[in-house]
Parts: sequence; structure tokens; C-alpha cells
Amino acid sequence: MHVPFLDLARHVELLRPQLDDAYARVLERSRFVLGEELERFEAAFARYCGVSHAVGVASGTDAITVALAALDIGPGDEVITAANTCVPTVVGIEQAGATPILADVDPRTLTLDPADVERVVTTRTRAIVPVHLYGQTTDIAPLADLAAAHGLVLVEDCAQAHGAEYRGRRAGSLGRVAAFSFYPTKNLGALGDGGAVVTDDDGVAERARLLRNYGEQERFEHVLRGRNSRLDELQAAILSTKLPLLNGWNERRRQIAARYGEALAGSATTTPHEAPGRRHVYHLYVVRVPDRAAFRSALSERGVGTAVHYPVPVHRQPAYADLARPGELSVAEAASEEIVSLPLHADLTDAEVERVAEVVADASRT
Ligand SMILES: *Cc1c(COP(=O)(O)O)cnc(C)c1O
Repeated sequence: MHVPFLDLARHVELLRPQLDDAYARVLERSRFVLGEELERFEAAFARYCGVSHAVGVASGTDAITVALAALDIGPGDEVITAANTCVPTVVGIEQAGATPILADVDPRTLTLDPADVERVVTTRTRAIVPVHLYGQTTDIAPLADLAAAHGLVLVEDCAQAHGAEYRGRRAGSLGRVAAFSFYPTKNLGALGDGGAVVTDDDGVAERARLLRNYGEQERFEHVLRGRNSRLDELQAAILSTKLPLLNGWNERRRQIAARYGEALAGSATTTPHEAPGRRHVYHLYVVRVPDRAAFRSALSERGVGTAVHYPVPVHRQPAYADLARPGELSVAEAASEEIVSLPLHADLTDAEVERVAEVVADASRT
């Protein structure tokens, strides 16, 4: 039995009739940009996150940019984020004109370490972008205290955390504003690119709405210098179809994670740590192994696909070598050499889950 790391074709096949309906609805109406599908999805997604506004944009990267720009953060301002995030977080900060500053992460959860954030705060710091990596929220309380003490805002990167919770509140409602991605592989994914800025702040929502559409308030009246970054009607219709299924999918992800955790208990493989008070939605199930190459090839030989998120931290990438010195962000660097993502998505069958559990347990014993 082969279990690939991901299977989007299966996902689409399982949803085919609903997806066809959503497409047909949009084609019938033939309004493709900024129409009622977007409004409907924005209202539903804001409600889902427990905030009053969602503003659809073209990607998760743009959501970070638009969120920062809506807060008037840009050139000359520093924005702190996690050293182990994927590059788009940093791209989103730089697109706003701000300067990204990397801080190290907690060794158990691999989310921002508040003590290291404090180390890099300067008089130019304006915002902290906690990345809820792999589907678990960052420990927000200490960051909120730090933000309050230094007059900073929290802008959550929720690209991997649709439906994740912190002390009973959903990701997206934990800071002043939050950025989501609907890239096809995310827990809630479109059939193409998409993103959203969510917030309880009326002013920030209003500015984000203007910024995504050339700063245009009334037709041909431009009150801000904006951009073109919209979530189109086809993607919004698809997302409205999928949103009611998200909680069930996340529940299934958690079940599979529990099964893998059981299979690996007591082995040399370190399983993900779900911190108290947090509800992990396992966008990725990331384990740590001392010899990653051997572990991955043992799995691959038995037909189990794996991936690494992410093999090279941002500041070790050629384009971003100026962001930190090698060794400065030691927790993120050490993790990058040991992490492996196992196949985990809502469409796996029980037989596939059992197969992965067995193969991974074997590989962890040898
Ligand atoms: C996917 C992702 C993004 C970027 O989203 P796009 O929609 O691909 O632009 C940003 N941050 C994190 C943590 C992500 O996983």
C-alpha cells in the first residue's frame, strides 16, 4: 500500500458534486470579482473565527501585507516573526515595506519564544507576527503582555491554523488582526490562491478593504495607495462550500494524530507537543528524529511519503542571509535538521492511517 504525503486529487473527487455546484452558481451569475459570493464567504469566515470582519485577498502572503499596511506599518518599521516560518511570512512583511526581524522559537512547540522576542525588540519595532506553525497557536498571553509593554500590535499568521484554539478562542481572534491563507493544501483550501485578513477592528477592516482594491472608495475615487489583491468569486464560492466541513476535517486530523502518537509512544521519535489550553489542528504532523535521512528512506521504501517543513530556516536562505548570523537562532536551526512531516490529512482512510502508524513505529525502533 502506498500512502503519498498528500492527495489533492482524492480531496477534489470526494467533493466533486458540491464543487461543480459552486462553479455553476458563479458561471450562471457571471460576476467574477467583488460580488455576493465573496460577501457571503467573508461573513461566514468572520463568524467562524469569532471576529466581526473578514476581508478576502489574493493570498496568505498578501493577507500579511494588507494587514500590516492597514495598521499603517511600513518603511522604517520593524516586524518580529518566527525564525522557522516559511519564506512567505517574510515576503508579506517586506511587501508592506517593513523590515522583518527573526526571533527564535520554543523547542517543544516550535512557536515564538517570548523571551527571544524581547531580545530583538527595538525602538523601531511596531508589530509581532506569531506564526501558528503546523496548526497549533502560539502562546499568546506572554506575547500580548510584551506587546502591551512596548506598544506593539499582534498580527497572527494563521495560514496553518484554521480552527485552532487558544484558551477556547479561535486563531484569528487572538491579536489585533490576523492573516489566513487558502492555498490548496491548507486545512481550508481553495482551488487556487486565496487569503483573508480578519479583525474585530472596524477601522483596520475598512482600510484593508480599500487597500486590496487600489485604494478605491467610490468608483474612481482613490483615498489610499493600495494594490490589487482580491479573493475572486469562484474561490469564494468554493470556500463557502468547504467551510461547513472544516470542523469535521480538523476532528479527523486530531484522531489521526492521536493514533500516530499512540504508535510512537516510547520510541526514539519525538511526537508533536500539544501545549495545555491549546487545540492543535494538525495542519502538519511533524516529528523529530535524530537521523532524518535514514528515517525518511525507511518510510519511502515501504511506500509512505514524507516532507520537511522547512529544511532551511529563512536566515540560512541565500536571499535572506542578512537577517541573522548562522547559529544566532539555534532552536530553529537545530529543529530544521530533525523535523519530518508524516502524511496526515482528513481524507486518509483508516487502513492508510494504520499502515503509516505501523511503518513509522517500525522505523522508530530500528
Ligand atoms: C502558506 C503559508 C503562508 C503563505 O500563504 P500563501 O497563500 O501561499 O501566500 C504564510 N505563512 C505560513 C505559515 C504559511 O503556511
